[in-house]
Amino acid sequence: MDDLKNIIRDVHDFPKKGIIFKDITTLLADAKSFQRMVDLLAHRYVGEKIDKVVGVEARGFIIGAALAYKLGAGVVLVRKPGKLPSETFSKTYQLEYGTDTLEIHTDAVQKGEKVLIADDVLATGGTMSAVVDMVTALGGEIVDCCFLAELEFLGGRKKLPDGKVFSLLTF
Ligand code: AMP
Repeated sequence: MDDLKNIIRDVHDFPKKGIIFKDITTLLADAKSFQRMVDLLAHRYVGEKIDKVVGVEARGFIIGAALAYKLGAGVVLVRKPGKLPSETFSKTYQLEYGTDTLEIHTDAVQKGEKVLIADDVLATGGTMSAVVDMVTALGGEIVDCCFLAELEFLGGRKKLPDGKVFSLLTF
């Protein structure tokens, strides 16, 4: 797994001073690494009969769509406010400074559907926790929250459902 870890680029002081940003574009741009990431993540959920894979804007769309294709599931988008055209359900959540809001189409997940949620990086867990709340409110049954990488020292998984978090890589 070290090859996948090493191909992710650390960008210091982005988007603000003191943050080390895990830039996954270097992994996405490498054909073998991208395929390996998708295959390794999808492998865990083969046979789980996933109905929908929810991808979180924007890098989660790439991972989520690839997983959905492999698993024969539908793709659902969770977006920043004002981007989804039809009726939406929204959730506002706490950031370190201030708040943020995400939206999902109200008919994107049906009651009882088995849902996998995908994003690139688990940091403080605020984003994924909001997505979990939205999918649950629509009646979806969350199978797992999966990530390419987890920043363990931030403890984000404590905000997420017990036993329903998987990260391919940890930093
Ligand atoms: P959080 O809500 O703190 O778990 O932040 C998760 C979201 O912010 C994800 O969608 C990540 O893409 C992004 N993110 C937060 N921190 C980082 C980081 N250090 N490097 C890359 N992406 C990050």
